[in-house]
Amino acid sequence: MQAVVPWCGVTLPLEHSYAQLPERFYARLSAKPGPLPQMIAVNSELARTLGIDPDSLKSPETLALLGGRSYPETLQPIAMAYAGHQFGGFSRQLGDGRALLLGEIVNTTGQRYDVHIKGSGRTPYSRNGDGKAALGPVLREYLVSEAMHQLGVPTTRALAALSTGETVHREEAFPGGLIIRVAASHIRVGTFEYFSARGDQEAVLMLTNYAIARHAPHLLNEAEPVKLWLEWVIAKQAQLIAQWLSLGFIHGVMNTDNCAVSGETIDYGPCAFMDEFHPQCVFSAIDQQARYAWGNQPSIGHWNMTRFAETLLPLLSNDSQHALEIAQSALATFGEIFHRHYLRLFRAKFGISADATDDDGAAWIKSSLGMMADKRMDFTRFFRALTRHAEDAENRNIAAQFSSHTIAQQWLDDWKSKHNPALIEEMKQHNPVRIPRNHRIEAVIQAAYLGDFSPLEEAIMALRNPYQEIEEFRHWENAPLAHERVWQTFCGT
Ligand code: AMP
Ligand code: MG
Repeated sequence: MQAVVPWCGVTLPLEHSYAQLPERFYARLSAKPGPLPQMIAVNSELARTLGIDPDSLKSPETLALLGGRSYPETLQPIAMAYAGHQFGGFSRQLGDGRALLLGEIVNTTGQRYDVHIKGSGRTPYSRNGDGKAALGPVLREYLVSEAMHQLGVPTTRALAALSTGETVHREEAFPGGLIIRVAASHIRVGTFEYFSARGDQEAVLMLTNYAIARHAPHLLNEAEPVKLWLEWVIAKQAQLIAQWLSLGFIHGVMNTDNCAVSGETIDYGPCAFMDEFHPQCVFSAIDQQARYAWGNQPSIGHWNMTRFAETLLPLLSNDSQHALEIAQSALATFGEIFHRHYLRLFRAKFGISADATDDDGAAWIKSSLGMMADKRMDFTRFFRALTRHAEDAENRNIAAQFSSHTIAQQWLDDWKSKHNPALIEEMKQHNPVRIPRNHRIEAVIQAAYLGDFSPLEEAIMALRNPYQEIEEFRHWENAPLAHERVWQTFCGT
């Protein structure tokens, strides 16, 4: 039986199914004294999806709980244990070093969500870190994760952002923040690796059963649930990464501890949406080998799934050779699934159909993206201008995306010969008008550091309904001016 605690007044029960797993899966946390945090932003739409009254999040009891100041007796906050391959090297011992799992909400449709707090202070997994988060990265995660959701990408979501009133010391001193993050779960590839690396097969089996029951319960009655689970996770990752690519999104730190088995995007550290398109584009200050560049993400996704499959080998078959064959054939599906989605998404973006004969558009898409990269075109502006041109041939803004009139005309003639006018709605639904560009996020953060939260409010509004043309937010479509450009992003730790 799961513990149910009242929270947010008495209306919201929190459950603790993960905390029912054995003690070696996590560390239990207790409340710490300190000032109450202040609420900066509440995601009312998400709160309602969860069955929470958004105003109740601002009550003193809830603020005390979110800030880790006092917990009702039945609450079981935990820091989850995990390991992970970081930039290719294995770290046996990571875990929630600056976050905690408060509990789980099951909403009226029966969907279970983790409620996580990031920036909540030290845990047994903090190593040398302070367990805190600066307000800037908190706002960044709030805006980008919410934008991803609005763009239709599976992702953890931000329920609220708070300021702690404390100072966090990084290369400079920053105001401290907290983000309340909601996820289908926080089980990572690194959670499986944690137990696998310790030879704890019993725990790998328990985690597998728990994760299947939570994310893919329809597999439980199948003859080979672990094989199907592996295939399920691989398919989710392949599709997710195709979506990232189609939006010019670079995750930035695709370590296996930042790879959620649910198929949601998690860990918004040094992520970025590209302005100018280039497949080798990287923003993360710590990614000096460009391991996690835009165009490398599919192969890294496959690499991460290989690490995941390795943890499941003993569960796939008693015969190690047979287990290897099952894992290899599951991993072989990654490329095919990724390409299918990638082509589907880019055909929709360009408004072209797959040929009934044998042309799936792959070669044409590749050469068009090559042209865009050569000319360093703005990824989002290019596709939206093309969409407007497809809708209204008189709208010639697309030509302005090219540096030469001749090249523009040549490419547009070629495009016209491929374009299917029936796909205009597809184009509109795959080519966003507004994305959370780095320079805009930076401006929100700098204003917030000065105590001005109006740019944050504007950003939240502008990033809602990103596929809709909204006159009031025209300036959000602009690429950064030279002096506004952000060249690097950081982990936020
Ligand atoms: P990340 O790069 O954000 O995915 O974090 C990698 C690991 O470092 C995770 O185990 C985090 O919990 C931990 N970590 C990151 N920042 C801090 C911090 N300020 N204090 C304690 N642990 C941290
Ligand atoms: Mg992480």
